Amino acid sequence: MKDTLKPKFLLTENLNRLAKWLRMLGYDAAIYKSISFHNMIRLAKKERRIILTRSNKQAKSSLKFSRILIKTDNHLEQIKELKGVITFNEQYTFSRCLLCNKQLYGISREKVKDLVPEFIYENQTDFKVCKKCGKIYWQGTHYKSMMAELKKILL
Ligand SMILES: [Zn+2]
Repeated sequence: MKDTLKPKFLLTENLNRLAKWLRMLGYDAAIYKSISFHNMIRLAKKERRIILTRSNKQAKSSLKFSRILIKTDNHLEQIKELKGVITFNEQYTFSRCLLCNKQLYGISREKVKDLVPEFIYENQTDFKVCKKCGKIYWQGTHYKSMMAELKKILL
């Protein structure tokens, strides 16, 4: 398995969309639901994550932890804000579940035959699966347009 792309992130729940785009790039972008800010800091320190937050108050906290204040609401603008912190590296894309942030594993085309639409089965060769949620991934048109957006911003 490839090394994890660094840095790792911990996002507040209102940055769910940004988290998906970071996972798209291969970043470990965790969201822990319904936890206090205090616990977020504790976990971020323990797991060596940078906290991404939309809250000025959290960003200005005098407590010691790594944080970045996200200033905009649009996920593509948010990606722009992280330019310099994150990079586009093809080696890591298509490697992480967009829903649960777990590493994806390769799965043979035969094994997914009854699990994906026939059109997808006929036209795709490279499939991956998340062992946690069972979602099957392939690089379809939606995936490719997301990639194109990311390249435009980061390359
Ligand atoms: Zn998953």
